[in-house]
Amino acid sequence: MTYEKITARIKELKHLIKLANEAYYVNDSPQITDFEYDELFRELKRLEEKYPEYITEDSPTQKVGDKISEGFSEHKHKYRLYSLDNSNNYEDLRKWYERIKKEYPNEKDIELVVELKIDGLSCALSYEQGILKIGATRGNGIIGENITQNIKAIKGIPQKLTQEIDIEVRGEVYMPITSFEKLNEENIEKGLKEFANPRNAAAGSLRQLDPKITEQRDLHFFAYTLISENKELVKTHYDSLNLLKALGFDINPNFSLETGINEVIKKCEYWKFERFNLNYATDGMVVKINDFSKQNELGFTSRAPKWATAFKFPPEEVWTKLENIELSVGKTGAVTPVAILSPVQLAGTIVKRASLHNFDEIQRLKLNIGNEVLIKKAAEIIPKVIKKKENEDLGVYQTPTCCPECNSTLIKPYGEVALYCPNTKNCPAQIKGRIEYWASKEAMDIDGIGESIVEKLYNKGLIKDFADLYKLTISDFMEIDLIKEKSADNLYNAVQNSKTPSMTKFLTALSIKLIGKETADLIASEYPTLDDIENATVEDLIKIDGIGEKAAKSIIDFFNDENNLLILQKLKEYGVNPKGTAVEKESNIFEGKTFVITGTLSKPRNIFEEQIKKYGGKVSSSVSKKTSYVIAGENPGSKFDKASTLGVIILSEWDYSRLIETGQYSTSSEEN
Ligand SMILES: [Zn+2]
Repeated sequence: MTYEKITARIKELKHLIKLANEAYYVNDSPQITDFEYDELFRELKRLEEKYPEYITEDSPTQKVGDKISEGFSEHKHKYRLYSLDNSNNYEDLRKWYERIKKEYPNEKDIELVVELKIDGLSCALSYEQGILKIGATRGNGIIGENITQNIKAIKGIPQKLTQEIDIEVRGEVYMPITSFEKLNEENIEKGLKEFANPRNAAAGSLRQLDPKITEQRDLHFFAYTLISENKELVKTHYDSLNLLKALGFDINPNFSLETGINEVIKKCEYWKFERFNLNYATDGMVVKINDFSKQNELGFTSRAPKWATAFKFPPEEVWTKLENIELSVGKTGAVTPVAILSPVQLAGTIVKRASLHNFDEIQRLKLNIGNEVLIKKAAEIIPKVIKKKENEDLGVYQTPTCCPECNSTLIKPYGEVALYCPNTKNCPAQIKGRIEYWASKEAMDIDGIGESIVEKLYNKGLIKDFADLYKLTISDFMEIDLIKEKSADNLYNAVQNSKTPSMTKFLTALSIKLIGKETADLIASEYPTLDDIENATVEDLIKIDGIGEKAAKSIIDFFNDENNLLILQKLKEYGVNPKGTAVEKESNIFEGKTFVITGTLSKPRNIFEEQIKKYGGKVSSSVSKKTSYVIAGENPGSKFDKASTLGVIILSEWDYSRLIETGQYSTSSEEN
């Protein structure tokens, strides 16, 4: 590169990073993905390392973060908040470790703590004599915003510690993914702007000038750093995390103490995929030297500690081409658009399809086949299309009017976004969908009967509905290509062995609109036999706590449909008999009482549920005025808040066991 080219590129990179910083830190509205940002940053760093003569003081590589917004008072941090150097490959991680090992030639391996990097907002909290004095955002690492009032609305931050000590605590404020999605739904309804991701939602919620708004948002906190002048308080990072917990903070439970870098890499590899099962966003792993005395010896560069580094997960967002829009017809007739993409690597897997939700979404995004689209993988397994490239106008995809499978004119029921094929009885896609669902794990759990087998059996005319599965012989199965006698035998047995399901599984498997597993369970606990359900009225059904009028009506409609009665009749003839779920009662101490369980208890939830039923009580999945008690374990969710608002009695596990012993409710004494 020539002198001009190098300086021009450095100038350009600085400008792009500055713009991105402003969008991110000041306006809470990022314009480029984190991955793109990191790439720009790394390129600049590489150029500056190669040509150090071009490093200027105002280069983003020399600074931490960016400026703060107006509206909050400034807070000068007592201890500077550094950034972490990061990399997205294991080679860099090994190099970092080797550099540290050189400093300790006499030690074989060095203890490291590896933690999840939560994608939220860093905050610093000062405690004096165990009392929260100041809460501040990170800002540029030296000066942040004083948000003490808002900090008090965050779950996981104690205002009073269990010990009267002076400490500074740092951690990440985040919004759970489910709360983020709910907030966005509400914002759409109110015509407000959507947040791009949970981190922006958390930032936007935390930096509200009105603390009341912050309080309404579901913000949480994981503490990850403890700083104390008292060097005797705690001597390793691992112990400090446990101390934070003991002091009353929420800490992320997914941290571990490892020896050597190989174990750390194994953990990174594990969380690269497993993180999608968490209800909060993570963007990498943080690795720290465990021993505080070593941390002190290693010290800092101008920007970051030498004793810590971050491994960034591969990007969760990527651009690709929308090759086609496929229409899929579900078991209830809902027609949904699916994006068919040019295959692309995303978060460690090759993605070829993505969700488009519904046709309104396509209109909103102004999408058409041929567009370049940004796809993202968040908590869900199926990635979704976020947006198309700006200025790429190919018109908008036309919403279909006919079922792609049976050509019936599609309908849009009042108040729903989805389009439906009304041909419930004869639409092949719906029939196959229902048979497939009948055999699925969630329903009757028949091993081996999946999409392709159902397709083949249906196409050969061997089955016309799910009841027909039970008349199939071994030789019927062998009519399918490539199925040998042994497999046919297995399939036959799997079907025959599924003849006595629980009432819940049976009801779920029927594919009744609006009746999923949870609702089916509620009905099954009140109506143990099929006859009971068939004789129930809408009025009867809505008496069950948790069953609304729509669901009740849907059940009645189902059992009044001739075609469905025919299928039920066939099931009976083939010997498919659901067994009731009525639990044998031991006593009636909970007679007429409804319980709701929330949070993590010491034993699996179903143990509590069965116990409650055994004592004559009922278990519901949602809190209402009819709820008698809420049993709250650790980290209770929105049900806890709702119970408090409605004045429902909240029991700890201890209260609950006292209730069983004495039949009386008494509050556990407050710890002081
Ligand atoms: Zn159809």
